[in-house]
Amino acid sequence: MHSIGGMAESRVALVTGANRGIGLEVCRQLSARGYHVLLTARDPAKADAAARTIGTSGAGSVTAARLDVTKETSIRALASDLAARSLHVDVLVNNAAILLDEDEGMLETPIADLRATFETNVQGAVAVSQAFVPGMIERGHGRVVNVSSEAGQLASRETYAPAYSMSKTALNAFTRQLAAATRGTDVLINSACPGWVRTDMGGPGAPRSVEEGADTIVWLATLAPKGPTGGFFSDRRKIEW
Ligand code: NAP
Repeated sequence: MHSIGGMAESRVALVTGANRGIGLEVCRQLSARGYHVLLTARDPAKADAAARTIGTSGAGSVTAARLDVTKETSIRALASDLAARSLHVDVLVNNAAILLDEDEGMLETPIADLRATFETNVQGAVAVSQAFVPGMIERGHGRVVNVSSEAGQLASRETYAPAYSMSKTALNAFTRQLAAATRGTDVLINSACPGWVRTDMGGPGAPRSVEEGADTIVWLATLAPKGPTGGFFSDRRKIEW
């Protein structure tokens, strides 16, 4: 774990899959707002390099750390490392995801791809939340943003990337479950759709910048008390499941 900048009293925000793309931009924006950002990636060297691109430019600070959301040992190691440093996670952005089956049809999608996709995009988010949301409940404050996609909307189901799309539907179901489990507290849980964004996943032809893609995620991560919980948002507006 490697820290850049002072990290005194600020709120702590953990972002998964943050070495590139939307996750990295979320870290940049949260750091600019004064958060102590835990920029996590499965490859610690990539986490370090990404953290250096933010450096001390924000009002907050950045700590790079290893986290593979599919490995319980990795989640446990980070949780105990943070506990040893008395760092409490106030904001969790479940951003890490994989897209394996953009060109597959539902009837051809290899079950191995379905399994791998769910393991990262769904079980990964659940496992990381199980490690850090209980602390939020204990301390009486927390924000969780599950980075989802319009591809996961049941209301507009198309043929696009079946394993990926179903994983985002399941992630949205997790948002509902967790919001119900934390109802009445100041722990607010929401899903965000960033839109189609120019990243490795979105490709160079996507209409949105990472800054635009990160906006609703950061808005949900920094909601004031009594803000919405259990919703699905795009461009800061509620959308259908
Ligand atoms: P991206 O550029 O492909 O980045 C994905 C990130 O997830 C990478 O940092 C990757 O790390 C990480 N990751 C994958 N598996 C992981 C694991 N097991 N543990 C930890 N990290 C892991 O994707 P993006 O476009 O920034 O997407 C970010 C989020 O937005 C995703 O949830 C995606 O589904 C969602 N989204 C994106 C778009 C879009 O148009 N881009 C649209 C809708 C929703 P490595 O570098 O190690 O692979």
